[in-house]
Amino acid sequence: MSHFHYKNGVLHAENTSLTDIAQQFGSPTYVYSKAALVENFSAYANACKENRRDETTALVCYSVKSNSNLAVLNLLSRMGSGFDIVSGGELLRVIAAGGDPRKVIFSGVGKTHEEMRLALSHDILCFNVESTAELDRLNEVAGDMGKQAPISLRVNPNVDPKTHPYISTGLKENKFGIDYDEALTAYREAATLPNIRVVGIDCHIGSQLLDDAPLLEALDRLIELVDRLAQEGIRLHHLDIGGGIGITYDKDKPVAVADYLTRLFAKIDKWRLMSHKGAPIQVMFEPGRSIVGNAGVLLTEVEYLKHGAVKNFAIVNAAMNDLMRPAMYEAWHGVQPVVQCATPSKIYDVVGPVCESGDWLARERALAIQQGDLLAIMSAGAYGMTMSSNYNTRSRAAEVMVDGDKVHLIRKRETASDLFALESLLP
Ligand SMILES: *Cc1c(COP(=O)(O)O)cnc(C)c1O
Repeated sequence: MSHFHYKNGVLHAENTSLTDIAQQFGSPTYVYSKAALVENFSAYANACKENRRDETTALVCYSVKSNSNLAVLNLLSRMGSGFDIVSGGELLRVIAAGGDPRKVIFSGVGKTHEEMRLALSHDILCFNVESTAELDRLNEVAGDMGKQAPISLRVNPNVDPKTHPYISTGLKENKFGIDYDEALTAYREAATLPNIRVVGIDCHIGSQLLDDAPLLEALDRLIELVDRLAQEGIRLHHLDIGGGIGITYDKDKPVAVADYLTRLFAKIDKWRLMSHKGAPIQVMFEPGRSIVGNAGVLLTEVEYLKHGAVKNFAIVNAAMNDLMRPAMYEAWHGVQPVVQCATPSKIYDVVGPVCESGDWLARERALAIQQGDLLAIMSAGAYGMTMSSNYNTRSRAAEVMVDGDKVHLIRKRETASDLFALESLLP
């Protein structure tokens, strides 16, 4: 059952009404359910256990960019999660949240010298290297520090994930990763670099995948490479399949995480048996959306209703700066009135106050609402707050985490003076 549900006609997060949250914390506010986060992470952790994997043979590295609030990272870290980061800032967040840097893997195409030094000084688990130029830089930086950098190469298996082009990342034309046909050469080069230790292979073919077939196809292609590398004496300790299982926004029916992992582990077990290399290989996952996406909603209030000749608008106090996904990917988010109402509904576009026509959160929704009503924008836990901005000098939303009937403020609402605190006038 969803942890966001109606009780006596009022939308609740667990046992707490969203009306109470709006009264106490105002809006717009991101509301997360702790129980949902725990349940979603456990889907991965339990599937690993049920397939006889411990941390040394399967590690879940939560993708920090999907929701990087310290309370979220801390909760996942306490459940044993590792972390997939894409910047030095995210590493500092993981550490501030009590996460273990030795369970951190570092992805991204543009790692700076400074970020490499930071990550090496904290002895992270692995750098997911995305080009040979990056390999050379990392070798140099590690050498200067008297260290060896553990690396995976991010390989493009050239599998079509059949998702939105902006979130599809494993095709030849994407900026990410190293071409499959060039991977062997790149590995050979990596193996000769004195300050590089080759430990793994990784890929990430895209996000919001509903079917696991493309992921299993990508796995086959990685396995082929691991075998060819082994023939040349380059032995890998881990294989990282990336993020990817999607969530239900509307009518989407994603494959169950447990089923996907069971199929994936079965393939790996069969391969390890057939190739007579009984040695286990550590499998890594980098899920983000499937852990936080449906664990959060964006709570907002209707400021005005505007009834036009062609369209009706519900102008709310949340905007594209708070939740960018609709403007950026034309993403669909459910919209639920916090208080259910029996009056007949009208069709509305739900829009924010930002001065852009792209500033909409939902289009053509039947809603029975009045000025001052509260709405919940559903499935907003992933790529919501982390993609928010201060455009139009709008303070970013507050964030709260519900735990049963308790609510914890996990990020204060910004004030206007916070927004220009770093700026200065000319002398
Ligand atoms: C964004 C990202 C992820 C997380 O993807 P989800 O679809 O949110 O699970 C994992 N790995 C990498 C390299 C990413 O860039």
